[in-house]
Amino acid sequence: MRNHGVGSWPGRRSRAAGTLTALVHAGRAATYRELDQRSQRLAHALEVRGVARGDRVAYLGPNQPEFLEAMFATALLGAVFTPFNTRLAPAELAALARDSSPAVLVADARRAADATALRDAGLVGGLLIAGGGDADDDLDRAVAAARPEPIDRPVEHADPFLLLYTSGSTGRPKGVVLTHGNVTWNCLNTLVDTDLTGTDTALVSAPMFHTAALNMLCLPTLLKGGRLILEEGFDPERTLDLVEHDGVTVMFGVPTMYDRIAHSPRWESADLSGLRLLLCGGAPVPPALIERYTGRGLAFVQGYGMTESAPGALLLPAADCRRKAGSAGVAAFFTDVRIAGSGPGPAEVLVEGPNVTPGYWNRPEETAAALREGWLHTGDAAEVDDEGYFRIVDRLKDMYVTGGENVYPSEVEAALSDHPAVRECAVVGVPDPAWGEAGAALVAPVAGRRPGTDELYAFLAQRLARYKLPATITFADELPRNGVGKIDKPALRSRLAPADKGRAPDGSTGA
Ligand code: ATP
Ligand code: MG
Repeated sequence: MRNHGVGSWPGRRSRAAGTLTALVHAGRAATYRELDQRSQRLAHALEVRGVARGDRVAYLGPNQPEFLEAMFATALLGAVFTPFNTRLAPAELAALARDSSPAVLVADARRAADATALRDAGLVGGLLIAGGGDADDDLDRAVAAARPEPIDRPVEHADPFLLLYTSGSTGRPKGVVLTHGNVTWNCLNTLVDTDLTGTDTALVSAPMFHTAALNMLCLPTLLKGGRLILEEGFDPERTLDLVEHDGVTVMFGVPTMYDRIAHSPRWESADLSGLRLLLCGGAPVPPALIERYTGRGLAFVQGYGMTESAPGALLLPAADCRRKAGSAGVAAFFTDVRIAGSGPGPAEVLVEGPNVTPGYWNRPEETAAALREGWLHTGDAAEVDDEGYFRIVDRLKDMYVTGGENVYPSEVEAALSDHPAVRECAVVGVPDPAWGEAGAALVAPVAGRRPGTDELYAFLAQRLARYKLPATITFADELPRNGVGKIDKPALRSRLAPADKGRAPDGSTGA
């Protein structure tokens, strides 16, 4: 084969184990050979539609086989696969299409109207619709009409494979270029650092357009010859069903997903004995959540990473889950991580290794700012303990300075979250005439248990230095979240900034 990229993986697996099940979706299974053959034909179909090496092929749809077929087909051509966040509004999708200028957009039939609008606006070259029925642009028809012979275009590890957009927590989403090599090395890191095997069944219910589900779960499992169960959304009850009856052994989730499973009415009675590997990342795992799972004999493998490092940078083995609660662990096997400078206290996390992106798409200034002297500057602050384990403190951008003191909101959030009536909370720094900046907290109380602000201040005063107490505490039923479900801090800052801050309906705003 001249193709050394990720597109060749289903074919390589099929040489010895083509009859193994690669994926299951909506009760239908496909073997590695079927996945390879569909991907090869789709590659021909894309080529007929003008897709050439280096072109982008976009995807808009849920977790489904066509996502992976389109991804492998694109990779077989040496083109670049760019899955769009399905939760974005039409104007945001248009911005991604303008940025990535895809030659073809593959879209689920349920998103055909959005896809057609992008094509009619001239933002994507052509369309293929998964489940498109009798229409000419139906993906199945295109695959059936395509040439059957294998396609073998030269692809090397240095060639771009994915264009993934960041979550947009700190601004507009940035396109990150990941090469075949970046993704391959991230998979190797994952396979060295966990005990994922070819007999595992991985439940994929987090969205595959995001780096975590795709690169920490789907691709390492497929590289080993394991089985994926693709779910179009996350549901705690359904998760327990799949664990009990469908042989799920591995899953990935952000802490809120694991929290919802642990609060299912079936949590105590469900048979979880098949679960071997619980990957958890994207945010720190609260100690109470760790306890709920260890109480059922389960430990998380926690990770810290970002789109730019494909994504694994730090990993906390299951054996350290409890002992090192609050830590994000040590560097992934083939990757190096350090913090900038040498002074005491938190400093910026820097990452170097074969999984780190060559840069952002069409953003040379941001690439130059993030990649300096070979190290990715993550924008996150961390501390290293005496055993060399990293604790992620917060994003540097979220840190605020009040009266000359640095405050990391995550520390205040962790203290507030310990209050039994606080379900969720977020803290941001907002302009303050006296102190430069001041903390502003938004608290979502446990249903029917709204605490008074005096009670919360008294609680915090036991736990935090005075300057860390937020100047205002406001209540809301829900926290604002961005497209991938992370708390939307920019939105929160404008909401809690003094200029447009009104009194809460019950007048409880303010310190
Ligand atoms: P943008 O770059 O557009 O602002 P984003 O950084 O949220 O968005 P992602 O690449 O999806 O986009 O997320 C990576 C970030 O998530 C990390 O830089 C870090 O801030 C946070 N993160 C990931 N894992 C952890 C973890 N285990 N603990 C704390 N924070 C984490
Ligand atoms: Mg980021």
